[in-house]
Amino acid sequence: MLFGVTGSGKTEVYLRAIATCLAQQRGALVMVPEIALTPQVVARFRARFGDALAVLHSGLSDADRHAMWSSLRRGDVRVAIGARSALFAPVPDLGLIIVDEEHDGSFKQEEGVRYHARDMALLRAQRAGAVCVLGSATPSLESVALVRRGKLTELRLPERAHREASLPDVQLVDLRKFGAGPTGDKLISLPLHRAIEQALAAKDQIILFLNRRGFAPSVVCDACGTVETCAQCSVALTYHRGRFRLPPPAPRAGLDDLPRPKSPPQRAPKLARGETAELPGLLSAMTPSPAATHGPPRPRIPVSPPASGAHDARSPHSPHSPHSLEEDTVLRGGRLRCHYCDYSGPLPERCSTCNAPALVLEGLGTERLEALIAESFPEARVGRLDRDVAGADKTEAILASMRSGEIDILVGTQMVTKGHDLPSVTLVGVVNADAALSIPDFRAAERGFQLLVQVAGRAGRRDRPGKVLIQTRNPGHPAVSFAAAHDVEGFLTRELADREEVGYPPFARLALIRVDAPDEQVARDAIGKLAAQARTSPEGLARRVDVLGPSAAPIAKLRGRFRFRVLLRAAERGPLRAAVAAVMAVKDDVDRSVRVVIDIDPVAML
Ligand SMILES: [Zn+2]
Ligand SMILES: [Zn+2]
Repeated sequence: MLFGVTGSGKTEVYLRAIATCLAQQRGALVMVPEIALTPQVVARFRARFGDALAVLHSGLSDADRHAMWSSLRRGDVRVAIGARSALFAPVPDLGLIIVDEEHDGSFKQEEGVRYHARDMALLRAQRAGAVCVLGSATPSLESVALVRRGKLTELRLPERAHREASLPDVQLVDLRKFGAGPTGDKLISLPLHRAIEQALAAKDQIILFLNRRGFAPSVVCDACGTVETCAQCSVALTYHRGRFRLPPPAPRAGLDDLPRPKSPPQRAPKLARGETAELPGLLSAMTPSPAATHGPPRPRIPVSPPASGAHDARSPHSPHSPHSLEEDTVLRGGRLRCHYCDYSGPLPERCSTCNAPALVLEGLGTERLEALIAESFPEARVGRLDRDVAGADKTEAILASMRSGEIDILVGTQMVTKGHDLPSVTLVGVVNADAALSIPDFRAAERGFQLLVQVAGRAGRRDRPGKVLIQTRNPGHPAVSFAAAHDVEGFLTRELADREEVGYPPFARLALIRVDAPDEQVARDAIGKLAAQARTSPEGLARRVDVLGPSAAPIAKLRGRFRFRVLLRAAERGPLRAAVAAVMAVKDDVDRSVRVVIDIDPVAML
C-alpha cells in the first residue's frame, strides 16, 4: 500500500515502478477510477512509454478493444491503463498491478457479476507472482486493516513533492454561527464570501465544491410540507434549470468551447432569503409546514407567480432587483428530474397533495450555486463541472479553460476533486460538508472524509499556499475535524475503532440480500422468507452469522419496484458463505415477479 498525501508524487512512483518492471521484460497493468482516466493522466503515461501503452476505457468500440487486447496478447504492448474492467486485460508476463485511488467506490462492479477490482487485483497479482501496489491519499479501511494484519506492506510519501508546497490551511465555518453573506443564501457564508473576494483580488482561482447536481435539490409545498417525489422512486425530484437560456451576452474570446454561456448576472433568478414569507397574505394564513418549522431558514424560490402587488411590497426590503417576468420564464423553462430513474417532467404549478399554488424550490444545487456566484461576483468568469455539463470531451475543455486561466471560479460536484493538477487554485470552498455525512451507510463517515481530503488537496500546489473553507453544521464530526487537521492517520485509527466496536467491516464480513418487486407485499413476503431461511440455517441458529433485518431499503422504491433487504454478518468468511448458500437454495421459491440480488462485501448500501 502506497499511502501518499495529495500532491506527493504517487504517479511518478508508478511510472518508475513500471519502468523497472519493463526492464525485467515483464508487463504492467494500471487501474484508475473511470472518472480519473482523463486525457491529462493518459498523456503523462504516454510521454513515458510512448505507443507501448494500451488505454482501456468504457468509450472504446468493440473493434478498438479487440485490437488493444490482441496487441497485448502478442506482446507488442506491455503496459495497460484503464478503469475497473482493465483488470481482465491480457497483459503478458504480468509483473506489476497498480490500483490508483484504491479507496474509490467505482472499483466495485455493481451489475451482473459483482466483484471488487481491488480485491481481484490482489488475487491476480498473487497468482501471477506479480507485485500489487494500492495507492491512495486516503486509504480504505479494508486496506489499512490488511496492513495492520501484516498482509500488505505500507510505503509512505508523507510530504508534497515540491518542497515549498505546504498542505493548505483549512478553516471550518460553523454554519450554525455564521449567517448568510451578501448573497442572502445561508450556504454562502460571510467568511466564504470574503475569501472569494480576496482570491479574486489576488487573481487566483477558486473551486467551489457542492455534491448536488441541478438547481434546487427539492420542490416543497409551503402549505402542507409535501416534498415532490418521483412517482417511480421514493426520492425527491430535483429541479434543473437545464439548457434553457436567456439570450447570452456577446461571446467572449476563448470561452466558446464552454458548453454553457453565462446569462447576464442581473437576470439570474433572485435568491433572497425568506422571500416567500413576504408574499402578503398568501402564506401567513397557512399551517406552518414541517420544513418551515424545523431547522434553520433556507433560501426558497416560489414556483407560482406571485400575487399582484407583491413586487411593490417586496422590493424595498429585498437586497436584489425585484422578481421579474423573465425569472418566472427561467423557472418554467426547467424540468423536474429524478436522479435515480429516467423521469423528467415539467415543473407543476400546484402541490400534488393539497393542490395549493405554494410550491417553492428548496436547497442549493450546482446550477443554482453557479447562478448565485455569477450574480454576486459579476466581474468573475464562472464555470461549472458536473455530470450535466460534462460529456467525455467537455470535461477536458472545461479543465483546459481552468488551466489556461479563462475561468476564475469553478463550481462543481466531485468531478472537480479528482487528480486534476490546477496549480493556480488557492481557494477551495466546501459549500456543504454535511450532505455526504448524512447518507444512511456505515461507510458514510469514511467516504465523507475521503471526499473532504481529496477536495482540500486541490488547493495550493506548487509554490502557492492554499486555503480551504469547509462549511458545516457539524464541526465536531470526526470526518470533518480530522480532515481539517490533515490527520488521515488519526481518522483511520478512530474509524477502525468505531467499526470494531459495532462489528462492521473490516472486522466482519457482510452479505447484502436485496429483493425488489412491483408489488410491495410480494416483495415483503419474499424477503421474510429469505430472512427466515438465513435464521434457521445451521450458521444462523448457532449465531455464527447475524441476520439483520429484514427492513425496507434506504431507497424503498426504485423504478417502480419496492425494495427490502436483509444483511448477513459474520466474523469469518466460511459461515457467511454457508448461510448465503442456504438462502441461494430457496431464492427461486419466491414469487416470479421478485428479483433477488445477493451482494457479498457490499459497497452500495442504498
Ligand atoms: Zn401541499
Ligand atoms: Zn425516479
